[in-house]
Amino acid sequence: MRPIEIIRKKRDGLELTREEINFLVSGYTRNEIPDYQISAWLMAVVLRGMSRAESAALTEAMLHSGEVLDLSSLPGRKVDKHSTGGVGDKTSLVVAPVAAAGGLLVPMISGRGLAHTGGTLDKLESIPGFNVSLSLADFLRVLGECGCALAGQTAEIAPADKKLYALRDVTGTVESPYLICASIMSKKLAEGIDALVLDVKTGSGAFMKKEEDAVYVAQLMVETGRRMGKRTVALVTDMDQPLGRAVGNALEVAECVEVLRGAGPDDLRRLCLELSGWMFYLGQRTGGVADGKRLAEELIANGRGLEKFREIIKLQGGDPGVLDDLRRLPQSQHKMDLTSRCDGCVTGIACEQVGIASLVLGGGREKKEDAIDPAVGIVLHKKAGDAVVAGEALCTVYYNSDARLAEARALLERAFCVADAAGRAPRPLVRKVIEGNSQAGPAAPIGSVTDTK
Ligand code: URA
Repeated sequence: MRPIEIIRKKRDGLELTREEINFLVSGYTRNEIPDYQISAWLMAVVLRGMSRAESAALTEAMLHSGEVLDLSSLPGRKVDKHSTGGVGDKTSLVVAPVAAAGGLLVPMISGRGLAHTGGTLDKLESIPGFNVSLSLADFLRVLGECGCALAGQTAEIAPADKKLYALRDVTGTVESPYLICASIMSKKLAEGIDALVLDVKTGSGAFMKKEEDAVYVAQLMVETGRRMGKRTVALVTDMDQPLGRAVGNALEVAECVEVLRGAGPDDLRRLCLELSGWMFYLGQRTGGVADGKRLAEELIANGRGLEKFREIIKLQGGDPGVLDDLRRLPQSQHKMDLTSRCDGCVTGIACEQVGIASLVLGGGREKKEDAIDPAVGIVLHKKAGDAVVAGEALCTVYYNSDARLAEARALLERAFCVADAAGRAPRPLVRKVIEGNSQAGPAAPIGSVTDTK
């Protein structure tokens, strides 16, 4: 087989065989096929799509590029959560310690920032000393000791996703339902979990701008999870404005600590409770989602979620002192308020532009080798529906260099829409719930969709 023939075949809209897909994935993972050929193939997949059979073959090829963990010797249900990515989308840092504090095992393999969205690994690395590059042995040790490990893909676990993810980030090839499904599900299935909660974002800051596209991705992933015998649910949630108020790595860690302390922005807190509630329910810790949410609330109120985060940070080499003093997180040298020019109401926030503004300040990557500045970002003071008077701050920009400040500022000025009309009420946080039951067997329809609007 030759890569160029497979690239041409996909370019021309033909269906690839399982063998062809395996050949590309294993060749790329072993560094035998160069970035430029895989970039061309990824773009062909974005433009031409995939059949259900190709999508399944891709997910399985990526899953088997590394080890599939067998956690059966560890007692307890193994449950994870993953998001398709958004701006200010930081729930993993709350949900993982809360779920572990409630008795679940959370073997979480996450990703770095992708395009304009932030990544859990970059956020965790803003905690001084925190090591996300765990060997398989260390990953299992941390998981066994405290019930949760937070790490990235490695040469041992999901190596194909490690390489493809970094390439997609910088080649405009994120937005494909099939690539998103294979990327997420290959690493989640490699973790050896019993159940999975997916947060599928939709709106201006998501990869799926239209709700029907988000539902399609959600169904594809739920179907994949079910086919592999995992209890899987997908919540389709709002990303029409940043989640919470902080966008940027260290700023987002600080906001998560606030939530674990029982405070923090209402939307972030509510979504964390919802996702944890589903984790407790699917992990059979509680008989329903409502009980699961109550358990999560208790674990935040009694401080056990925060203490679990402290244990994880210590075990992964980080400075647990950040939980007592947020000033120990990286701080930017400068900050600047962006103010409203008129009285009115914030009628919308172009969420992707806020993500790009954080990226150009240094919070994300434009090339694979770019280093991240953990301290930079944006804190929103106004969100959709809020009243504002002329001269009042809409957001504060945290930065270290003037080099691209004007560009970030222009993006943010355009992102906030202030009008004298009353803004429409913010959309519900959870728009749809798509459930798949692993017991239902592969012949049953994809999954039931519950409209929560
Ligand atoms: N998160 C992932 O892990 N992969 C994607 O492709 C998108 C979001």
